[in-house]
Amino acid sequence: MKEIGIALLGLGNVGLGTYRILANHAKDIERRLGARVRVRHVLVRNAGKSRPEDVPASLITHDMKTILEDKDVSVVVELMGGLSPSREYLEQAIASGRNVVTANKALLSAHGEALYSKALARGVDVHFEGAVCGGIPIIRTLREALASDRVESLTGIVNGTTNFILSAMANEGASYADALRRAQELGYAEADPTLDVSGMDAAQKLCLLASLAFSARVSPESILVEGITSLTPTDIAYGREAGYVLKLLATARRAPEGLDVRVHPAFIPAASPLADVSSAFNAVLLQSAALGASLYSGRGAGDLPTGSAVVSDIIDTCRNLLAGVSGRLPLPCPPHVHDVPLLSSGERRGPVYLRFSVSDEPGVLGRIASVLGEKGVSINSVLQRPPRPADSHATIVVFTHDTREADVAAAVQWIDSLRSTRAPTQVIRIEEGPGVLLASR
Ligand code: NAP
Repeated sequence: MKEIGIALLGLGNVGLGTYRILANHAKDIERRLGARVRVRHVLVRNAGKSRPEDVPASLITHDMKTILEDKDVSVVVELMGGLSPSREYLEQAIASGRNVVTANKALLSAHGEALYSKALARGVDVHFEGAVCGGIPIIRTLREALASDRVESLTGIVNGTTNFILSAMANEGASYADALRRAQELGYAEADPTLDVSGMDAAQKLCLLASLAFSARVSPESILVEGITSLTPTDIAYGREAGYVLKLLATARRAPEGLDVRVHPAFIPAASPLADVSSAFNAVLLQSAALGASLYSGRGAGDLPTGSAVVSDIIDTCRNLLAGVSGRLPLPCPPHVHDVPLLSSGERRGPVYLRFSVSDEPGVLGRIASVLGEKGVSINSVLQRPPRPADSHATIVVFTHDTREADVAAAVQWIDSLRSTRAPTQVIRIEEGPGVLLASR
């Protein structure tokens, strides 16, 4: 039987998961592919580290040259993470005519376009299913299954760390700091969680998905990105009273004025299929012209879930090798993507949750209502709570009707400057869409 040689760069969580799936499913893979996939080298960094017994020591190398000089390596699979030397290694692999697979969304976000262009020019493939939503085949869905369709909107929960933290805050009333500490203890958050909690990890993934869904060039630097660090269990509780669940949402949708792409916390209806996606799970809800609504959900990270996506990419690229073809699928670089106008965040319209911390005195609610009215922000409902024994301020929660974000921002700026306002106003957007999409189709 024909054999295809591959090299794994990295034997951490995903590298080991990938190795084990290739070993444990070898017979199935052989039958599906009509060829054997053989791991010829595994590149690691730390010479002193002990390695799992099921990975033969003879495969381990510390030298990328060994891999590049082995003529029987046809596919290089990068699972090291980071920007350097991952980028250089992938460039060397591409330049030497190897197909490449990577799960490194940070690298693709920073240097993807250059890598894809080099691969196109060299006539080799780049696969990257593992880079977004772990084991969920969302990239495959956008590039292949929905190649016939026109995606109208994409709404995702694409970061397991923040979803875990928000789930813990909602279920246990934990503060953000306590929920983060627990996520770190359980291995759901990095020691430095900045990339996750700032929303930037979700933004990197969203931009990759949006570029495939809309054939558009979108970068995290050009979109609205807000994280979860200012959220409180109090907001989650008020939202719940009104029938909402709080999530970090990654959304991209076509609007008449341009593409609306953003990452921020949002209240979604408790009836939304996305509301049930909790802890480290991920999900993406697509709305497309022909199929209608469709939902993709599952484990968004982890050794075997991500490894399964990586191995599927390895099989795909091996199929292309066996058929003697490359470049069959669109890559998020020219000529497959082009520049499109992006909707400015102030122009977005939608309902909003506002929590005001104010002094407990007559006339405050009236002043707030009149500023909102003056700025064109229409009130849907109001909750008013007297100060709790431990607090020096009262709370007023307002749910608005559809409003222009720039108008909300102007009203909040004014209200925050009032003498009766005790703390900056909490603003959380409400996304009604994900709740009705599936139910209505
Ligand atoms: P990890 O556990 O930290 O493993 C990294 C591996 O790469 C280790 O084996 C390390 O070697 C090796 N490595 C790092 N730098 C190297 C260098 N300069 N030269 C040679 N080897 C080097 O990372 P991971 O969690 O598996 O993540 C790998 C990639 O998958 C990242 O891009 C990540 O974003 C992506 N990803 C991860 C997940 C997940 O659930 N973990 C999900 C989706 C995508 P040593 O063993 O010697 O330290």
